[in-house]
Amino acid sequence: MNWKTEYQLQDMDPTQKVGIICKKCGLSQSLTVAELITRFDRQLYLYEAERALLCTSWGCGSAVRLELSHDGLMEGFQGGLA
Ligand SMILES: [Zn+2]
Repeated sequence: MNWKTEYQLQDMDPTQKVGIICKKCGLSQSLTVAELITRFDRQLYLYEAERALLCTSWGCGSAVRLELSHDGLMEGFQGGLA
């Protein structure tokens, strides 16, 4: 099962961090579920949030990929080396 199609924001722990990685430039950010809820709707599915978000790097604005990040796992993210 894919957590992105299975979970709505409201189903998740508000303190859960979600990694947002640009598919083009690799910029990696993270937002908590609580922060996503302030931008979107509580009933938004994760895949919908993934489609709605864009890279915030100036002049990029490309599609992003969402990843669940657990404490200590952020270092495991690929790409985005400065
Ligand atoms: Zn980008």
